[in-house]
Amino acid sequence: MADKASNGSESTGLDPEDWDAFRALCHSAVDDMIDHWASVRDRPVWQPIPEAGKAALEPCTPLLGKPASEVYETFRERIMPHLLGNTHPRFWGWVHGSGTPVGALAEFLAGCVNANLGGREHMPVYLERQVIDTFKSVFGLPAAASGLLVSGTSMATLLGLAVARERIAPGTIRSAGLAAAGRELVGYCSTQAHSCAAKAFEVLGLGSSRLRKVKTDAAHGIDLEALEQAIRADRAAGSRPFVVIASAGTVNIGAFDDISAIRGIADRHDLWLHVDGAFGALAMLAPALRHLVAGIETADSLAFDCHKWLHVPYDAGCLLVRDGQLHRATFGGRLEYLSSAEVGAASGEPWFCDYGIELSRGFRALKVWFTLEHYGLARLGEAICRNCEQARHLARLVDAEPRLERVAPVPLNIVCLRHRGSTGSDPVEQEHLTKWLTARLHLEGVAVPSLTTIDGRTAMRVCLTNHRTTTADLEAFVAALLSFGEERASRSA
Ligand SMILES: *Cc1c(COP(=O)(O)O)cnc(C)c1O
Repeated sequence: MADKASNGSESTGLDPEDWDAFRALCHSAVDDMIDHWASVRDRPVWQPIPEAGKAALEPCTPLLGKPASEVYETFRERIMPHLLGNTHPRFWGWVHGSGTPVGALAEFLAGCVNANLGGREHMPVYLERQVIDTFKSVFGLPAAASGLLVSGTSMATLLGLAVARERIAPGTIRSAGLAAAGRELVGYCSTQAHSCAAKAFEVLGLGSSRLRKVKTDAAHGIDLEALEQAIRADRAAGSRPFVVIASAGTVNIGAFDDISAIRGIADRHDLWLHVDGAFGALAMLAPALRHLVAGIETADSLAFDCHKWLHVPYDAGCLLVRDGQLHRATFGGRLEYLSSAEVGAASGEPWFCDYGIELSRGFRALKVWFTLEHYGLARLGEAICRNCEQARHLARLVDAEPRLERVAPVPLNIVCLRHRGSTGSDPVEQEHLTKWLTARLHLEGVAVPSLTTIDGRTAMRVCLTNHRTTTADLEAFVAALLSFGEERASRSA
């Protein structure tokens, strides 16, 4: 059957009018991006965006479009030079993944096929199931466990805690709300837990004040005795403790809560155990680090990110739930226009839309699958292990340098440090110096560490979730830090 569009009598819809021109544009974009990766080390990690550059973006979309090549040029000239820098070998701020070319290829392919992973019968759904099964086996969860790829650990934590809440009054809490619980629901995490846990408590109507922040011990893990005391106190006061959130890798220093011990406490008090393993859970892939996450296989729900330490392009996180039936009971149920069929495109149960709050879902599974297939679990684990060795190397450099001081242990991949400043400088001066040095490293495009607070004092924080970093990068960072420190001292002298 001839397509009318081919004889030019009808519009081609939104497809290119000239496929050859579009092909040429795509080829040159691919060349540009490969050059971009290959030369990443030659560029500053970050550079300030000139105000004129921000203002140069048109204030709103024009009524009439322009050629794709022109839009691409704007992207190349105005956007590309001012990225955050997390693909650069000396980016160590917050907890960022550094991406991979192969992940980007998968992202392009996913865009091309434009699959909607809400459900139904198509291979992309089977691919996501394969990815989930892979992660279930990595973390030692049973076959009856379920899972879902989501935007990140924040979303995975929200969904995991919703399943924990469902367990309190199965079948009634969805319609009756929290009143169905009968008592005030309370949960626990350490003072070092990520803020996404409190956010989830707020969104779920539990209230963040009902999430008790338990103090940490000398190793920065949750204080187990204090945890159990808090649970007892809440019970005595008539509340219903229902969940404990264990951190596997805290943002500040990469500390681990003792998951096995927390499991014991959770069992004694009938609590759900949710593990926030955003990046730290992936220690599972490195045999030398696996002991840190001992007990993770006993989690009721586990949240982690593929876009951090697996370097899958943003965004991709994962939720795993031990009790797949309860997971489905929390989110399942569809109206008639979404009912499934025995055969045809509307078959393919179970559908992912019954395991979360989104109906339409992107093809995140492709970039995760591509990454896992191409690198293999062993190589991904080696990259994680290398980052931890590099963190220990940096810690040794800092310890050996009298002008610097390390301010926290290094259990994983994060080093927190300070420049001591000139002799006799007080904590306020040191705080200014730490902030000034961090900003200076950013502004000069040398490196991007971030700032945090350790024991109430400001510290510079280097988080190694970067497969491009080399030992020489860390040495260059220390050298720059010392030289900026000298500069500042001579200025104020
Ligand atoms: C990054 C992070 C989160 C939040 O994950 P997103 O993917 O950014 O939503 C939660 N917990 C920890 C420990 C993290 O590092």
